[in-house]
Amino acid sequence: MTLEFTTTQATERVTDEQLAKIHEAPGFGRVFTDHMVSIDWTLEDGWKDARVEPYGPLAIDPAHAVLHYGQEIFEGLKAYRHEDGSVWLFRPEENGKRLQRSAVRMALPELPVEDFVEACKQLVRADEHWTPSGHEQSLYIRPFTFGNEVFLGVRAAHSARFMVIASPVGAYFADGVKPVRIWLSEHFNRAGKGGTGSAKTGGNYASSLAPTQEAFANGCSQVLFLSSLGDRHIEELGGMNLVLVKGDGTLVTPESDTILDGITRNSLFELAEHLGHRTEMRPVTIDEWQEGVESGEIVEAFACGTAAVITPISEIVSPDGSFGWPDQEPGEVTMKLRKALTDIQGGRAEDPFGWMVQVTEAKA
Ligand SMILES: *Cc1c(COP(=O)(O)O)cnc(C)c1O
Repeated sequence: MTLEFTTTQATERVTDEQLAKIHEAPGFGRVFTDHMVSIDWTLEDGWKDARVEPYGPLAIDPAHAVLHYGQEIFEGLKAYRHEDGSVWLFRPEENGKRLQRSAVRMALPELPVEDFVEACKQLVRADEHWTPSGHEQSLYIRPFTFGNEVFLGVRAAHSARFMVIASPVGAYFADGVKPVRIWLSEHFNRAGKGGTGSAKTGGNYASSLAPTQEAFANGCSQVLFLSSLGDRHIEELGGMNLVLVKGDGTLVTPESDTILDGITRNSLFELAEHLGHRTEMRPVTIDEWQEGVESGEIVEAFACGTAAVITPISEIVSPDGSFGWPDQEPGEVTMKLRKALTDIQGGRAEDPFGWMVQVTEAKA
């Protein structure tokens, strides 16, 4: 049985004038819409009390499990406004399924996928006018679940809450897509075998912050993590998957159970195959990448994820030196795939895969 949602309207709402200002320069994840979704869970009763309510602070008990043992998982997806005024989600069921996989690993309750998708739709509808219509703008949706039992014992919490909040976001690259330099972390790893690398959980991000500071200090904007086994296999960035492009158009992405299973990466691979590219998901070493750049076999590389879609990579930087394409414009395949995917998401191209899910009707 699917959950029934109740709605409590926010009394304080953004005015049209304020919203127009926000949409002029939304930034990323700083301003939140008027409402939020909450669904409570207890071991005894399961999921209950699904509701849309005014956005606002939570009362946190200092003994809540999440504050001490980090029992938390999250998702990220976007709502897009199409030219006719209708609003659509991109593959929300995939996010719902992944939240379930993360829940299993972090001993949190699994929300049924239908309820996950309905929760996202309810929030987008409640705050309908918050989805911007500008170029590459969208409404970023952040579902998450955390253990909120008041108990310091170390075991899975017997109560939890699922929530959805949303924030309008602008084009990630405001002045055109620019390739970024990536720091190769030699001392830190992101995930270990049997660890939580394939779960979308806050702890993975917490542990990536110190290496990211190291990246910033070295003039880079992101970190590339290698496998913790010392085999020099490349994994991913702190929050984005990695794809290499060969001269013959073949796309290569690392395969390992320590990597987050990215929906953007999987969609790009399906799209690339549809466009006639070969794709390979297999272990790749940093040496294969470097030698491939030097021999001319590997001609482009990019990072991908929901927030920025595709970010071209110009250089890999480490204490021992750097390699890449420091002076190159974004690669041809990189930009072609970026356009193909963002055109489907923005409703400017056919959606042969049935990825888009409509949330609101076209405006007359
Ligand atoms: C969310 C995330 C990604 C990208 O996943 P998408 O589904 O494409 O947004 C990649 N790596 C990590 C570590 C992530 O948390």
